[in-house]
Amino acid sequence: MDKKELEKIKQKALDEHIPIIMDDTLEVVDKILKEVKPKRILEIGTAVGYSAICFSEYLSEDGEIDTIERDEERIIEAKANIEKVGVSNKINIYSGDAVEILPTLNNKYDVVFIDAAKGKYPFFLKEALRMLDTHGVILADNILYKGYVMSDYNKHKQRTAVRNLREYIKEVTENPNIETEILEVGDGLAISRMK
Ligand code: SAH
Ligand code: MG
Repeated sequence: MDKKELEKIKQKALDEHIPIIMDDTLEVVDKILKEVKPKRILEIGTAVGYSAICFSEYLSEDGEIDTIERDEERIIEAKANIEKVGVSNKINIYSGDAVEILPTLNNKYDVVFIDAAKGKYPFFLKEALRMLDTHGVILADNILYKGYVMSDYNKHKQRTAVRNLREYIKEVTENPNIETEILEVGDGLAISRMK
């Protein structure tokens, strides 16, 4: 993989305020991926492909990433970025709304990375659990949403997002089949492992 190109992609995304995975979050995810050596990763929310490109380094041989994005401009840029870095054989982009695409997928995944519309996290969780392999891991980025989720904040336009992120946390915590930790890295990361 072309690390110099990757650095350029990261810088451009930051300049354009595209919410790519934060460095401290990526560090934690990298560690998990190193230990899981996934054959197949599902990502919800590609943006310009930055996180998918980073994750592709940790795939096992012949491993693949399926990633979903609904914004057409971002899809075009993600495709170009993935090509530039030289990992297009490892990443499949699904174009469209994840709410519609997920129910059409029937693969088994070792890792699912949820990083899209916060109001849909409970739905994404349900779909992730349906396709998760035994011993799989579900990662949910932005789970603490600027601290709103853990405060008594419930105003304004973020209300639906906050309610659904809280619902996600409740569901993973109460599910007897999974074990969850929530880390205060980046914008918050929930790590749920199948027991
Ligand atoms: N994972 C990326 C960042 C993703 S940002 C990285 O770390 O590099 C979140 C992306 O999710 C945005 O590009 C947004 O367009 C997309 N998105 C939000 N809701 C979506 C949905 N319901 N279906 C598909 N994509 C969605
Ligand atoms: Mg994110």
